[in-house]
Amino acid sequence: MRERDYDVIIIGAGLGGLLTAAQFLRRGQRVVVVERLAHPGGRFTAKTFHGAQVSTGAVHMLPFGSNGELAGMLRALGVPHRVHDAEVFASFHVRGRQYICRSLLQLLGVLGPRQFAQLLRLGSEMLLYRPQAAERALSYRDWLERRISRAHSPELYAYFERICHFALSVDLADVAYPEIVETTKNMLRYGAPGIVDGGCAAVTGELERRVRADGGALLMQHDVVRICAADGQVTGVQVRDKVAGGDALLRAPLVVSNIGPAATHRLRPLLRWIRLARGERWTRLLTSLPVVNAGGVSAAA
Ligand SMILES: Cc1cc2nc3c(=O)[nH]c(=O)nc-3n(C[C@H](O)[C@H](O)[C@H](O)COP(=O)(O)OP(=O)(O)OC[C@H]3O[C@@H](n4cnc5c(N)ncnc54)[C@H](O)[C@@H]3O)c2cc1C
Repeated sequence: MRERDYDVIIIGAGLGGLLTAAQFLRRGQRVVVVERLAHPGGRFTAKTFHGAQVSTGAVHMLPFGSNGELAGMLRALGVPHRVHDAEVFASFHVRGRQYICRSLLQLLGVLGPRQFAQLLRLGSEMLLYRPQAAERALSYRDWLERRISRAHSPELYAYFERICHFALSVDLADVAYPEIVETTKNMLRYGAPGIVDGGCAAVTGELERRVRADGGALLMQHDVVRICAADGQVTGVQVRDKVAGGDALLRAPLVVSNIGPAATHRLRPLLRWIRLARGERWTRLLTSLPVVNAGGVSAAA
């Protein structure tokens, strides 16, 4: 089996994998990113379909716009990008009519004094008090409908419903009250999402260029089939060439998995056996190995 040595192996060339690679390359590490697909970017890029760009997942919005984590990381890495921050404070439909408000004052104009007073009361309840034990189990819809009625406060109800759809892509009934409280606090703290020029593909495209320019290796159409470990330490990964066939061994003291915990665990069959035997011991073993998920990169042992 062919063998190669690196300082860091990253599984998955999605947004997380590319960002992680760019950060390690800045520290002068020898980095390889292994990706099973023919293109990098994972769920944060686009494919051309009949002349149109179709997203592989993300809908081109950067959480919290230019104030968000992603924009901050791109700036710190010097990756070219342009974010257009949301200028609209609220946008919602009532009885087929769309209301667009660019300020709180405009929202007052749409809601009128009675519904605006309700908004202030609900807002302060959400932001100034911790959710009570009984409220923690409630969906946002149940919480809201105990306080206002859709029939009597249609504009205010639509305003809350729209925020929920926009921020979380779920219905009022599908999100717990405490989660919407946290989301609202974060939106007030950091701002609304932004749209990036060129969509998600532009971001991951620039990241890919940066990784290659800084000497990182991108091993496309290679599946990681096993994470190798010896004496409780990770030693590398076994990869399978999906085009030419055949396996290779990549060695490194640090493997960063960017494919989620469940898929990562499946790449380590020996440790899975221990998990079946005793969950608690499995957890301890897991944390003692330098295999981490992107976003929480830790130092190699
Ligand atoms: C419908 C939808 C809409 C979304 N909208 C937004 C949005 O507007 N804004 C936003 O910020 N986020 C959005 N997201 C979330 C965003 O797409 C993801 O959070 C982000 O793309 C995840 O990046 P990642 O690198 O962690 O994972 P992924 O993009 O999933 O990357 C993992 C990569 O690992 C590869 N891989 C897996 N297993 C192996 C293996 N064994 N060997 C080698 N390679 C492997 C995969 O092929 C993949 O390329 C949306 C997601 C969806 C599904």
